[in-house]
Amino acid sequence: MERTLAIIKPEVVERGDVGKIITRIEEENFKIAAMKMLRLTKAQAEGFYHVHRGKFFFDELTTYMSSGPVVVMVLEGENAIRRWRQIMGATDPAKAEEGSIRKEFGTDIQRNAVHGSDSQESAAFEIGYFFAGMEFHA
Ligand code: ATP
Ligand code: MG
Repeated sequence: MERTLAIIKPEVVERGDVGKIITRIEEENFKIAAMKMLRLTKAQAEGFYHVHRGKFFFDELTTYMSSGPVVVMVLEGENAIRRWRQIMGATDPAKAEEGSIRKEFGTDIQRNAVHGSDSQESAAFEIGYFFAGMEFHA
């Protein structure tokens, strides 16, 4: 069993498509081990995306991620990290695979609907960034 950190990004929450994404997650047989809704401050978004500090899109990305509430979740399952990335699709919705979440729900390369950890190391950091032990449900 593996855990990954998923985020439903602000434009999806604003549009009212959270339920559709959660339905998809359940249909794909992930277990939702933890979940909450929150609005990041700009500094919290910068901390979360620290690996991108210095890139040209860093300021715009962290402003966007703190522009409204997001839903953060810990998804559990076999190969959860790789499998969730596959279901999300490519970073740019225009290049995302048919049937992927970003293809269906993404707007552009920044407003691309969802986030997923990209390695075991980033999953450990990202899960710890948002959740304490008592927030997990067996
Ligand atoms: P995420 O980390 O959100 O799951 P990802 O791993 O597919 O996405 P990253 O390279 O980690 O992509 O980029 C993090 C986020 O930064 C992207 O999801 C997107 O919102 C934004 N981003 C990435 N590349 C660009 C770009 N060229 N222009 C604008 N925003 C970008
Ligand atoms: Mg990434």
